[in-house]
Order: sequence, then C-alpha cells, then structure tokens
Amino acid sequence: MTTTRFAPSPTGYIHVGNLRTALFNWLIARKSGGTFILRIDDTDPERSKEEYVEAIKEDLTWLGLTWDRVERQSERLDRYARAADQLRGMGRFYEAFETPVELDLKRKKQLNMGKPPVYDRAALALSEAERAKLRGERGDGVWRFKLDQERIEWVDGILGDISIDAASVSDPVLIRADGQVLYTIASVVDDIEMGVTHVVRGSDHVTNTATQIQIIRALGAEPPAFAHHSLLTGPQGEALSKRLGTLSIRDLRARGVAPMALLSLMARLGSSQPVELRDSPEALVEGFELSHFGAAPTKFDENDLFPLTAHVLRATPLAEVAERLTAAGVPAGQAERFWLVVRDNITTLGEVDDWWKLCAEGADPVIEDEDRDFVAEALALLPDGPYTDESWSQWTNAVKAATGRKGRGLFMPLRKALTGQAHGPDMAQLLPLLQVIRAKQG
Ligand code: GLU
Repeated sequence: MTTTRFAPSPTGYIHVGNLRTALFNWLIARKSGGTFILRIDDTDPERSKEEYVEAIKEDLTWLGLTWDRVERQSERLDRYARAADQLRGMGRFYEAFETPVELDLKRKKQLNMGKPPVYDRAALALSEAERAKLRGERGDGVWRFKLDQERIEWVDGILGDISIDAASVSDPVLIRADGQVLYTIASVVDDIEMGVTHVVRGSDHVTNTATQIQIIRALGAEPPAFAHHSLLTGPQGEALSKRLGTLSIRDLRARGVAPMALLSLMARLGSSQPVELRDSPEALVEGFELSHFGAAPTKFDENDLFPLTAHVLRATPLAEVAERLTAAGVPAGQAERFWLVVRDNITTLGEVDDWWKLCAEGADPVIEDEDRDFVAEALALLPDGPYTDESWSQWTNAVKAATGRKGRGLFMPLRKALTGQAHGPDMAQLLPLLQVIRAKQG
C-alpha cells in the first residue's frame, strides 16, 4: 500500500516550491489509491506557529489537495527519544561538545587546507572523564549519529543512481544540546512507523537522504523509495529563494490565480510533458510519472499562471462563481448573462468588480476628436434602456443608415463611447447589462 507524506515545518506560509513537493506526493498516493499524510514538522517550538499550521491546511484545501490523516511531530517526542536510546545502545550515537565558534574554526581550517569541511569526530575520542568534565563546564552536548563510512547508494526516482561517500558528510546532529530532537531523526522515525513508502522532496535534501538511509537501516527498517525534484528558479534561471516569500500560495490566491491553473502548471513544469489545463486535481493523476521529470533546475514564471487562469475562467460555470458575483454586487437575475459575457474577457476573477462597476455605474466615455459629431449623432439615436438582445443591432443599423458609417469605423467609436475601452465583451451581449450610459447623459 502506497503511503506518502507532505511534511512542512509550520514556520511560514507554503510557497510554490513547497507546492511542488506536496503535489507530487499527493499525486503518487492518489494514483495508486494509497494514503497521503499531512505531517506537521513542528519539533522546533520557537519557530513553529499554530497560525501557520492553520494556514497550511487552508492553502491545501483551497488547492483541493486533500489529506487522509494529519500527524504532528510535537505529539510524538517520546517515540523519537526511544529511537535515540536505541541508537545510543548500539554505539551509533555520541555526545559532542564543540561550540558553534569552534566548529566554524575547524571548518575554516579544513577549507584552507583544501579539505572538505567534515566534522572531525574529535568527540569520539573523549574518555568518560573528559566528557564529564566538558559537561560540567559547558552543559549537555549535542548528539551525533555515527555514520558508517561507506558509500550510500540508492536509485532516485528522479535523479537516477546516486552514490554518496559517507566520509564526505559530517555525522549529523540529531539532538540539540537543549534536548530538542531534530528533523533528521524525527522524520526517519515517522517514515518508518507510518509506513511511508515514497518520499519526494526537494534536491536540497539529497545529503539528508544519505544520512537518513543509514539511520533507517540502523533502526532495523528498509528505506522508502526516494525521489528529489529539482529546485525552482526564476524565468532567467535566477535563484528564487529570496522571492519565495512573495510566491506563497496565499499571495498567488490574493492575486487571483485559479487553483487549477497553479496545479496544472506545477504537475508538468520541469517534465517532458506539456502543460495541459485539467479541471480537477484528480484529473492530473493521468499521465503523471516521476520519471518524466529532469534533474536540471526548473524555471518558474509566475506570469504563466495568468493566461492559464484566464482559460480556467472561460470554462467556469456560473454556479462556481455565483457567490463571488453576488459579493461584487451583481443581482441574481443578471448573474448568468453577466458571467457569460464577462468570463471571456478577464484574466482573474477579481476583474469582475470592474466590469460590474462599468455596468452599474457606467464608464467615462472615450471619444476621439474626429468621431465627436458621429458619436453625438449616434447617441441621439439610442433609445433609453432597458435594452434587449436586439437593441445593439437595431441601434447600429439605424446609425449606419443615418451616417453611412460601417464596420470598424462604426463599431469602435460606439464601443469606446459606451465602455471607455477599445476591447471587451461582445457589445450586443453587453448592452442589456448597462444600467447607465454616461456618454448619453452628456
Ligand atoms: N520538514 C521538512 C522540510 O520542510 C521535510 C522534509 C522531508 O520531506 O523529509 O524541509
């Protein structure tokens, strides 16, 4: 039975990078009828905030990425302590007392000598008496996992064959001096106990994976299938890390991006498959294969989300937006016509406010100097509303007969006079929605 998890730390809002991780894991679970766990990685009590837990759930719900279960690491601390004891009992866990400054100094020396900055395991050589002395002077140490210095290998679902020399990696700290359990071990214990079969995450976790594979084996379990997706960059290949704050899911939502535009893009971006708009998260399952994705950084351009959103809107039925139209002030009796007229002409749903304002309050007319007499003559021929489906053709025929104008020279000045814009919905459809025509009021 396939089990995947999305494991955000509730220390901020989730962004497009996190979304990629969430979506891939969700798709893998749904594709095989498995389980998708939302795991809150909240072992850091200072940085974890309840408001972010709520925000993450809200964002996933808005996207339609439903989870089968929520787990919280803060409720499982006893299990991590037990696993730590197990490693201690096996001699795979040791206490180290170097201060951050000392570690930094060691790293600098190693780098100066052209060596990789790997922890030198000095603490392993301490005698019991020396440890007791250091503990007395400095308080409790950190606990490091003693890696077996061999090659760690796995077949990555995206990156292919991976082989990492454990000697090139520092023994990871799994418990801080203040006793706080770190993600590296908590995640391993959870993945084992929750029966996680597939872990997809960003390629910034590749080294973690190497060490976690050893910890998993030390705890007597078999590692899940790992896959690491490439990190997102901006459209020019620039690092996105600094901008991720403005690429949060809620920020994109506030800017009017449609969830299916975002999901459709993210389910294919960076893969060999073209982006295709689908109408539900479930519909993205078909054709989704991790092996279609490449290792190269993936260019993400938020501007791509807007044409996709416009497409989504074009296919959105009234029922799905009725509430939003009511909020914009559109009366129920006019909602259907309004939506059918306007949905082809907006990029984001927020623009319905402007269109309804135009209908209800009228637009400042735009009249070119050379059209001034023509428009005045035409407006004199426009009867007072309300207008019907036939009003536009009746009116423009009358104007044509009176002025001799036709085609664009006839229609464009009238459109601009009535809507203040050169582009927009079909005028025959729009006219019955116009409650006020400012140009006619003089
Ligand atoms: N909390 C970790 C993160 O957000 C989870 C990584 C993982 O998927 O194991 O980076």
